[in-house]
Amino acid sequence: MRILISADMEGISGIVDWGQVLSDKPDYAGGRQLMLGDVNAAINGAFVGGAEDVTVADAHNHGRNLLIEGLDSRARLHSGSPSPHGMLSGIDDQPPYDALVFVGYHAMAGAKKAILCHTWSHVTVAGVWLNGQAVGEIGLNAAVGAYFGLPVVALTGDRVACLEAQSLLGPALEVAVVKQATGRYAAECLPLGESRERICSAVARGVSKLKAGQAPAPWGVATPIALEVEFYYPEQAERAFLVPGTERRSGTRLAYSAPDAMVAYRAFRAMVGLGRG
Ligand SMILES: [Zn+2]
Repeated sequence: MRILISADMEGISGIVDWGQVLSDKPDYAGGRQLMLGDVNAAINGAFVGGAEDVTVADAHNHGRNLLIEGLDSRARLHSGSPSPHGMLSGIDDQPPYDALVFVGYHAMAGAKKAILCHTWSHVTVAGVWLNGQAVGEIGLNAAVGAYFGLPVVALTGDRVACLEAQSLLGPALEVAVVKQATGRYAAECLPLGESRERICSAVARGVSKLKAGQAPAPWGVATPIALEVEFYYPEQAERAFLVPGTERRSGTRLAYSAPDAMVAYRAFRAMVGLGRG
């Protein structure tokens, strides 16, 4: 059984502020160590649950957060950017993966009491919809997973991220809540030992459910997919409108019809890249 772990940073144990996740800030070195701890707990959980092969995609910012010298040596690492599949680097590897695990994920832009909630770019994207369903990075990446036939079997993050994931992907999704936010930049964080135990056992349960045929189904989105993106400012929508095929729905909203989730993901990433300026 082959597992691909996509590791973001905002939902990592102990992280509550941009200063811990942006590489030019003094707290980033500590944030990186926290990320390694959670990812290693997830790798261990995958093997405990019965995985034979584990790869990690460093999915935060430019994909250069995880220090390979500190990573569990049983796992390979996809590092750096840009890569064709974004937060799911390597998802098209052969032989195919069997499932995805999302570690350190966060709630969508605009969520209430959710640490560092945003969707892709916290200065650019106010909202994203797939066929009218509001999604954040959890939904966007789950849809790409489904394009490759893969379910998400476990997710870790703050309480609101875990609730968002279960309401979208179903209650069979195993989650590890590692902190409970009282605001966008404040949370009660579990002790790291307890947090990592939760991560390890949620991932182990997710992978063993997969083996037993009880994992959630891949989150397939009906095609063609109506993608809508709401930007914060009109000039961002104007720059993103350079993506061929986009339609302007309002000063700040663009729509795009995608034949499948992979095209929707590429179009979205292109829009955000241009929109950010
Ligand atoms: Zn991130």
